[in-house]
Amino acid sequence: MNKTKQTDAAYQKCINPDCDAEYDCSKPLFKCPACGELLDVRYNWDKITIPSKLNEFSKRWAGRSNKLDFSGLWRFRELLDFCEDKHRVTIGEGQTILQQNDAIGKYADMKASRLYLQYEGLNPSGSFKDNGMAAAFSHATMVSAKSCACASTGNTSASVALYAHHCGLKSVVFIGSGRIAFGKLSQAMDYGTKTIQIRGDFDDCMRQVQEVCTRLGLYLLNSLNPFRLEGQKTIMYRIIEQLGWEVPDWIIVPGGNLGNSSAFGKAFYELKEVGLIERIPRMAIINATGADTLTDLVNNKKLIWNKGQVAQKVIDDYYADLTARNFSPQTCASAIEISRPVNLKKCLRAIDICDGIVRAVTDEEICDAKAIVGRYGLGCEPASAATIAGLKQLRAEGVIGSDERVACVLTGHPLKDPDLTVNYHKAKKGQFANAPIEVENDLEKIIKLIE
Ligand SMILES: *Cc1c(COP(=O)(O)O)cnc(C)c1O
Ligand SMILES: [Zn+2]
Repeated sequence: MNKTKQTDAAYQKCINPDCDAEYDCSKPLFKCPACGELLDVRYNWDKITIPSKLNEFSKRWAGRSNKLDFSGLWRFRELLDFCEDKHRVTIGEGQTILQQNDAIGKYADMKASRLYLQYEGLNPSGSFKDNGMAAAFSHATMVSAKSCACASTGNTSASVALYAHHCGLKSVVFIGSGRIAFGKLSQAMDYGTKTIQIRGDFDDCMRQVQEVCTRLGLYLLNSLNPFRLEGQKTIMYRIIEQLGWEVPDWIIVPGGNLGNSSAFGKAFYELKEVGLIERIPRMAIINATGADTLTDLVNNKKLIWNKGQVAQKVIDDYYADLTARNFSPQTCASAIEISRPVNLKKCLRAIDICDGIVRAVTDEEICDAKAIVGRYGLGCEPASAATIAGLKQLRAEGVIGSDERVACVLTGHPLKDPDLTVNYHKAKKGQFANAPIEVENDLEKIIKLIE
């Protein structure tokens, strides 16, 4: 498939229907200058030659000598066609696998052959964030950015650090003091980014980084950046690709800043819009109970997308109450320890598109689920395991049927948070605890332990 590049195929558009402002892609904006709402990347599909069948995309991968065809992101390039090939950044992200797993399916009370795990830990920096960074750094390169910044619970900073180095951009990352898993912190330092630990939580970092970027003109790499979400869409393409281009019944994803759930909804909406799929799967977004803003707003306050007319007052009141109570979110799944998710409204839209639902699971459920993914799967970090804990809960409620086809997104690598894993096993409290046994340096005693 050779296509001629149309530079005006993509544009940015405000998600606020009362505003509807449009901007071209040549400037980093990240929030609508007219009204302050989030922006989307949109496409004039008639200016893009999209392969008529989904398997045209997989054929590229078979060739893979072109690094854009090898990328699990750019082999779908017509579906995120906002820059020319020369600006497309890749370091081999998206070589991920969809593992069918019956042992974990059984744990969640699913019938055999129904549960699939989209393991994103195989990405260059070990989390699914690399999908979005490949896209966002392509945009950063296109607009000739020289330095960039992000706030992070850990994986964003690792990914930014890696891609920034690759693209020759200076980077600075903001993390909440004591809020980051060790594996992730080690990556930020090792990849050579300037790492600033703010005495505060992620939400504090998020506020500060926006100010800093505005003041110093840095390119912002948080998921406010709509180009990042374009990259995250490709996780859904790879899931259906690995299902022989069939759409599953459910996608389950953890919810933190809600960029991914937003991107996944957009991915399916667009695939249907351009006629590449007929049916959109349902989506379940899983919070931790200690950081359950979305769950509370959707399930208790009945907040909905409402064609873009979201009840802003409900959100404002909710956040005012968090502030009044001096609330700081608290969960062992540090990647989703966020109480003011920046993509909230886009996520509400995704819930609308995918007939989505939201649940919260406890840290205990997350840790047990993480341990079973470790034992029978490919391992994952705590936030990823929220999907399995969420599935178990939704099976118990009868919301998901035991013979429905479910794909859980395992967002990060097991070695991201080794402290949590070691503590879980050593504490001997969890269902799957497997503590090391200490023994004297004595052959008979050692053998006795193994027999
Ligand atoms: C970033 C991240 C999340 C949350 O994703 P959002 O798009 O912010 O909701 C979940 N799990 C892991 C491992 C992450 O790195
Ligand atoms: Zn606007």
